[in-house]
Amino acid sequence: MNVYDSRKMADVLAPMGYKQIEEPDGADMIILNTCHIREKATDKVFSELGRLKKHKDQGEKEDRKVLMAVAGCVAQAEGDFIAERAPYVDMVFGPQTYGELPEMVAQATGAYGKDRVINTNFDEEDKFDKLPEETTEQGPTAFVAVQEGCDKFCTFCVVPYTRGGEYSRSVKAVYNEILKLADQDVREVSLLGQNVNAYHGLDENGNTASLADLILKVADINGIERIRYTTSHPRDMQQDLIDVHAHHKVMPYLHLPVQSGSNKILKAMNRKHTRDLYFDIIERFRKVRPDIAISGDFIVGFPGETEQDFEDTMDLVRHINYSSAYSFKYSQRPGTPAATMGGLVREEVKDERLQRLQALLADQMRQFNEQTVGLDLPVLFDGNPRPDQLHGRTPYNQAVHVQGNPRLNGHFENVRITGTNGKSLTGELILAEAA
Ligand code: SAH
Ligand code: SF4
Repeated sequence: MNVYDSRKMADVLAPMGYKQIEEPDGADMIILNTCHIREKATDKVFSELGRLKKHKDQGEKEDRKVLMAVAGCVAQAEGDFIAERAPYVDMVFGPQTYGELPEMVAQATGAYGKDRVINTNFDEEDKFDKLPEETTEQGPTAFVAVQEGCDKFCTFCVVPYTRGGEYSRSVKAVYNEILKLADQDVREVSLLGQNVNAYHGLDENGNTASLADLILKVADINGIERIRYTTSHPRDMQQDLIDVHAHHKVMPYLHLPVQSGSNKILKAMNRKHTRDLYFDIIERFRKVRPDIAISGDFIVGFPGETEQDFEDTMDLVRHINYSSAYSFKYSQRPGTPAATMGGLVREEVKDERLQRLQALLADQMRQFNEQTVGLDLPVLFDGNPRPDQLHGRTPYNQAVHVQGNPRLNGHFENVRITGTNGKSLTGELILAEAA
């Protein structure tokens, strides 16, 4: 979501003459886009700001004003604190305000006689309307936000407080944005939302569309060959979304976080579902796409997690067989209900559990990747890390490296998968053989 938001900030600023560059050196504006999901986020922001300030100081020496900004959820949650502790920051603004950047920049550059901007307004209905459809996007894959915010209030999570309540964009707004992307040779879109499968946008007839309805509409767009979506919540999983995986443009990949395999911990987390519901959903997906790659998120060491609860998580993982996953130590977030819960798990215990879980998940990832060695898979090339090497992704979202001409960048080619280091794949172009 932050990658998408950063691109949108660049799009809003483009008509003002700003262009995104790779390094802060020589920049006229530096925006630090931040995430607040786990702790130490604020500390990281301050150390990063300290590092970036030297570019502003250098600018001043050269009589050039360098605007410094903090955006994102840390700005939303701790705007005043940042402004106070880092007086050299010119703009602090939250994720709902990016459409107002032109006014904020005008203010920060002194056009209105005032200079500092602190904007943590919460006007989510308007956010997307104020963002341009035109994009500076380059490359064959793109993120598109379709839903934002969350009403679920899992007891560990800051998202409902920093991103606000659930909001879905209209089918038309999403469709138009993707039409433009397709025109710019984008071939794969990832539909984004904090709870993307809670999507309930209005269609052109004023009816509510589900994520599956939206996906089918996007699938009609010429040029868009691959559709992905992330992140889903088990409670919002409807059969129509499962069934839509039969469509050839919908990739055989699902990111469905479960957080814990223990019913007791799931309850304390306010996830409002059981481990059995999770098993049932995965089974239904596998009925439609037996080869589907499953990914997930896990939290270890939630307050009250016993060795048995953790074993329940390990057991769930053993039953599911993940192709990839993200796992985290529980991180206490001020203002969330879990922050005041008893039964804190010691740091060493969290470390040790995380290691065990990650070892199991790494094994499963290796196994999944090994199963694809020997297959011929369509790969969309999205970069060339070296002049003679291409990087791309399989339908299962695995990274592949092959030798090949950079002009294949942005194209689909069939690749014979020849090996894996456990994490990514190597392969050979089949095209070369045919030619
Ligand atoms: N809406 C998604 C998750 C969004 S947050 C869902 O409900 O599944 C992304 C991930 O960050 C979560 O899945 C969770 O694993 C992790 N996370 C969120 N808050 C956390 C916390 N306080 N400590 C550790 N991990 C956390
Ligand atoms: Fe956070 Fe996801 Fe729970 Fe919403 S559903 S509160 S985003 S973990």
